[in-house]
Amino acid sequence: MALVAIDGPGGSGKSTVAAALAKRLGWERLDTGAMYRAVALLALRHQVGVFDGPALAGLARAMELDVGERIVLDGEDVTTEIRSEAVDAVVSPISAHPAVRAELVARQRAWAAEHQTAVVEGRDIGSVVLPDAVLKVYLDAHPEVRAARRAGQRETALDAALSAALARRDAADSTREHAPLHVAADALLIDSSELGVEEVVERLLAALEERGVRP
Ligand code: C5P
Repeated sequence: MALVAIDGPGGSGKSTVAAALAKRLGWERLDTGAMYRAVALLALRHQVGVFDGPALAGLARAMELDVGERIVLDGEDVTTEIRSEAVDAVVSPISAHPAVRAELVARQRAWAAEHQTAVVEGRDIGSVVLPDAVLKVYLDAHPEVRAARRAGQRETALDAALSAALARRDAADSTREHAPLHVAADALLIDSSELGVEEVVERLLAALEERGVRP
């Protein structure tokens, strides 16, 4: 079993780096943020409030979710819809509920055990989900850089509302009581503000080699 955990705030480049690293290694990748987003989408559709932990956990437990190139929720491709502003607005309070996290963390660990060699990205992967990961990475970038990247992904203009929404979500994820976003003690901290994807990937491959893992 060899697992790489990549954590960091929104717009830090986690998803792009995780995908590029997984490709170089020939390993699978799991985007755990997509799982919390799927629960948030279900909550919006079923009009379940963000404070109703038991009902939200019920949605998480009952959903059939396939997280790969496409995100398929109960048989429907929701890859685009889970990235909507509406989902952005509710995903942090929803993911703060321990019962929701317990359900998704169990699925993430089962997925990792099944795949054996994989890159897993999120907020609490190195600290909670996979404490035995061979390499833990905390990817960060300046807030302006992260907001600009998010605007680029959305193909929208970078405005104050987008920056504020991202900052709000980061603050909520970092200060919540259960599994907050933080740098694990044994994580490799990389600031990607001025680095290209390939440069980050090369650093991670070098770090893996130091730990005896070669592509
Ligand atoms: O990574 P992404 O921005 O898609 O994650 C969406 C939200 O899901 C985060 O803002 C956070 O609230 C939650 N999340 C989490 N734990 C993870 C991954 C995501 O709480 N491992």
